[in-house]
Amino acid sequence: MQPVIILHHHEIVLKGENRKYFEKQLLKNVRTAVGGLVNSSAIDGGYGRFILHLDLTDITDEILERLSYVFGLSNVCYGVSVEQNVEKFCQAALKILHDRTFKTIRVVTRRPDKNFPTRSMEVNAAVGEFLCKQFNVHANLSEPDETIFIEIVNGEAYVYRAKIKGAGGLPSGVSGKVVSLLSAGFDSPVASWQIMKRGASVIFVHFHSMPYTSQNSIDQVKQIVEILTRYQFNSKLYLVPFLDVQNEIVLRTPQSLRVILYRRMMIRIAEAISRKEKAEALVTGEAVGQVASQTLRNIRNIDQVATFPILRPLSGMDKEETIAIARKIKTHDISKEPYDDCCSFLAPRKPETWSNIEKIDEAESNLDIQSLLEKAVNEAKIERYIFPSNN
Ligand code: ATP
Ligand code: MG
Repeated sequence: MQPVIILHHHEIVLKGENRKYFEKQLLKNVRTAVGGLVNSSAIDGGYGRFILHLDLTDITDEILERLSYVFGLSNVCYGVSVEQNVEKFCQAALKILHDRTFKTIRVVTRRPDKNFPTRSMEVNAAVGEFLCKQFNVHANLSEPDETIFIEIVNGEAYVYRAKIKGAGGLPSGVSGKVVSLLSAGFDSPVASWQIMKRGASVIFVHFHSMPYTSQNSIDQVKQIVEILTRYQFNSKLYLVPFLDVQNEIVLRTPQSLRVILYRRMMIRIAEAISRKEKAEALVTGEAVGQVASQTLRNIRNIDQVATFPILRPLSGMDKEETIAIARKIKTHDISKEPYDDCCSFLAPRKPETWSNIEKIDEAESNLDIQSLLEKAVNEAKIERYIFPSNN
């Protein structure tokens, strides 16, 4: 009996033509996630799952934790591998359950490997009967206290009692690149995560107004990128100086349009970075009607400067829904700390909630947009993040 972790593939099972490519990327991601803990030769697969053969049981918790961040997995199951033999299944189940207290049990067998002659129902019945006798318990197929899972695949069999829910989504990297506008607030980390979950590699762009905004805010953004890197293993963060842009806007345009003009410049700069990075889309954490700059009209006028699609995964979400996800993905505690955003600094007293495009165009005619754009892109600092770092 050898300890194993069984990983069930999520949506990729449905992906037809692309399936091979998706599986290859998922396997690569699993190997990266457990790099330094599990030898990559100890990971193989087939039949819509991967198997990790473990030696060192003492680091299992860390391995399971890291696997819980891998997009494209539906379940992470810790158990043992045994020979394809009903007697061996019984012994494995006995061992797994030996220190547990329960009154009812069920056995669920899957047999994708049809070389094994006994049908799943018969295995369920045989192992179930054995366990009921051994533990003096009853079978209950609908709401049992304990379930034993048996999977007959790859010329061996796996027995386990618990499934941990995987991260779901599509394997990181299969959908191409996006550039996400990231602040230290609650929304944009969640928006980035949601697009990452759909298989996109996210490149982060943060605008700061140093030295008028603090180093603290940048550090918060860095911590957020560090957390999100656990899901994609490798991140790039552009730190873009935004003070010159803001100064020009403050000096030369009407106060009420400031935030919309800041946003339009952010989008232009992010789009220039997208071209450089060969990304396909931009991402923001905007939600319809959440603040003055996010009314439908203002979103429309911000969109006009972009030729790339702007993905807004939170557009239809309430703040509480977003915060619940922030908690789940562990960015909440960083975002809840106060930070000074470049847009609250020099914010207008009465921001325009229903902007007029002619007025915006007129205001922008006072700005040298091209040179502000080029300067910001050229002066951006790039940082790289890698997880696990010992790889
Ligand atoms: P968040 O919680 O993401 O900051 P928010 O509800 O506070 O969002 P705004 O601050 O108006 O809304 O920002 C709207 C979106 O613009 C953000 O979700 C983010 O994508 C982008 N954004 C705002 N500030 C910055 C910044 N300093 N750097 C990069 N992107 C930013
Ligand atoms: Mg904000």
